[in-house]
Amino acid sequence: MTKLIDGKQISQDIKLELKEKVSLFKEKYGKDITLAVVLVGENPASQVYVRNKIKATELVGMKSLAFYLDENATEKEVEECVNALAKDDNVDGILVQLPLPKHLDENKILNLIPANKDVDGFLAENVGKLLLFENSTVACTPYGVLELLKRENIEIAGKNAVVIGRSNIVGKPMAMLLLRENATVTICHSKTKDLKKICKQADILVAAIGRAKFVTKDMVKKGAVVIDVGINRVDGKLYGDVDFEKVSKKTSYITPVPGGVGPMTIAMLLQNTYLLALKKAEENV
Ligand code: NAD
Repeated sequence: MTKLIDGKQISQDIKLELKEKVSLFKEKYGKDITLAVVLVGENPASQVYVRNKIKATELVGMKSLAFYLDENATEKEVEECVNALAKDDNVDGILVQLPLPKHLDENKILNLIPANKDVDGFLAENVGKLLLFENSTVACTPYGVLELLKRENIEIAGKNAVVIGRSNIVGKPMAMLLLRENATVTICHSKTKDLKKICKQADILVAAIGRAKFVTKDMVKKGAVVIDVGINRVDGKLYGDVDFEKVSKKTSYITPVPGGVGPMTIAMLLQNTYLLALKKAEENV
């Protein structure tokens, strides 16, 4: 029998725990925890993401600052906004919603965020520390996947883990986290040969490809744990990267889409903000 990993419930639990921690933080340090969100332009999906992030931030008792810049904002204007937040002692975390409009240099702007306010864990300093297994802020989605595995008491050490996808925000940090937990990790990508054979050896299979129902039943070992990061909209309906209906008949654990990894991303964003604020407060005591 397969067990469905309920990311909605687990993310709710994390947010409730955080609410308690944020309240204790305020009592102890006499200050708010503040997350600043910068949105440039009017991408409808980004607007929804930003709205949800702000709502969740406030729900756990943190303060949110939102900066909405015009679609045609110049690089200088966006830089000034991020630089001001970087200098502001009251701001604990900065999130620049991606994608930025095409005329802006994403890397240049993200690199203005100091590593100790990088709630997304995208900066080279944080990624490098993850590679060195040092304490750092980890990208929210893979961090959320790890949290799902841990909260379900799924053993990682010594297991064969296969990650399909090598993006900077999901695949690569996911592989590093699993390696840090002592799994034997294989990273697959668009040029991988014999993908099916490799996937079939996985005790833990993480799909982060961006193609609906890409992972089929014949690619999965019986009893495997399958984590579906994909979010694919087809004809107005949401699908993961895994052919859930058929694959779930073989797995021991599987995440649904929606309601699996998705809700964890925001929960881990809040967790990252809290951890950065705590680190700063402890350093300043
Ligand atoms: P991406 O496009 O940056 O990376 C996709 C990866 O898949 C690449 O590394 C590519 O090499 C690999 N790939 C493509 N075709 C392949 C093939 N035929 N065989 C093997 N590998 C192949 O995407 P991303 O940003 O990593 O996102 C992946 C998916 O996860 C998307 O569906 C995205 O929407 C979703 N996502 C979800 C969340 C969340 O909160 N749940 C967060 C980020 C991304």
